[in-house]
Amino acid sequence: MVVDPGSAAPAPGHGPARHIRLTSHSGAADALTIHWGAPTAAERGPVIGTTITRAHRNVIGTHSGSYSVYRALAVAAGALSRDHRADLTNTAPTDVIGPYPQWGEPATIVSLDPWGAMVAEAFTAELAAGYDIRPTIAVTKAHVILPEIAEAVAKGRLKPDGQTLLPSGAAVVTKAAIEPVWHLPGVAARFGCSENDLRRVLFEETGGMYPELVTRGDLEVFLPPIGGQTVYIFGAPRDLADPGVELTARVHDECNGSDVFGSDICTCRPYLTHAIEECIRGAQRGGVGLVAYSRKEGRALGEVTKFLVYNARKRQEGGDTAEAYFTRTECVAGVQDMRFQELMPDVLHWLGIRKIHRLVSMSNMKYDAITGSGIEVGERVNIPDELIPPDARVEIDAKMAAGYFTPGPVPDAEELRIAKGRGLLP
Ligand SMILES: [Zn+2]
Repeated sequence: MVVDPGSAAPAPGHGPARHIRLTSHSGAADALTIHWGAPTAAERGPVIGTTITRAHRNVIGTHSGSYSVYRALAVAAGALSRDHRADLTNTAPTDVIGPYPQWGEPATIVSLDPWGAMVAEAFTAELAAGYDIRPTIAVTKAHVILPEIAEAVAKGRLKPDGQTLLPSGAAVVTKAAIEPVWHLPGVAARFGCSENDLRRVLFEETGGMYPELVTRGDLEVFLPPIGGQTVYIFGAPRDLADPGVELTARVHDECNGSDVFGSDICTCRPYLTHAIEECIRGAQRGGVGLVAYSRKEGRALGEVTKFLVYNARKRQEGGDTAEAYFTRTECVAGVQDMRFQELMPDVLHWLGIRKIHRLVSMSNMKYDAITGSGIEVGERVNIPDELIPPDARVEIDAKMAAGYFTPGPVPDAEELRIAKGRGLLP
């Protein structure tokens, strides 16, 4: 259906009024078909979320995850032409990732496009024919400089080798940014619900943002408006897929307060920097290291909820205890955790990983998701006690009591009732 608002007034920003397109019909004869999980890029077909040529679209939603909304703002403000097409000159990946056998298993990767970094070479003919195909993955190189790594060098725990770790203290990495691309039937299967229910709930709980979720059953791929992931690789990316090469890995969920600002109520940054140190050491032993960082702030509840929970924890009768740690979150958010690690292993399969020799994580949910997806895990590396900030003792005790991995004793009920967190006032 094409609705003409019948107005001669100019559209916001500039230009004449445009038809508003509601997309309850299929019939876009020019759209290329996606065969999710096909073994080659040519058979799979490109993911096209362009807003320029509507007839070419073969997905629901558009590119850039949550930033698609900023793009819309830029168009509304007249700062960006809605017809702008990316000039991809010189943007090709610095390192070749894959293709790996997992890319051709439809149920193994359901939340990203494994061919997303190589669209320019995989879909040359379609690009030449005028299809606006954009990368959903970008791969580049960087030097990362962290005070904790400089300290490890100063204290002799790490030694620069001029390759993985430079004399300046900078670590040399390959990093990749990955936008979410969901195959709705596969995502539904992961969560044990029907595809119809998933589509309907996504539609209703976003306030009806994407009508095609319920009107276009023929479109199976959704580009959701959520944060993506970044992976940091220490050593050669191709070694990730070789189970004979020792892999040290951490899967980390974003915690802006700790990761960036050094907030001491949790162990996120100390665990992250410890993992980076382990990754560098592993790479220097001839192995490879990986940190996969997911934008799932505050257990995917967001920072507003997170800060509300902090207050509720610290103001409760008896003070901030591990015993009430999960209950306080559940009171505010309705659940303890919304990260749902079910989709997390996809990025590991994109990298071709079969075995993680050293998993730098204590989370039983991450461990279960990784091993449940068919990846073998060897040793589990906990955060050293001396890296746990005093105010984060509540969190780590609560998690260990709830089943997180620890090589030491699990706190008992009496221990969990002791208030260990600081109050709100200095
Ligand atoms: Zn944190």
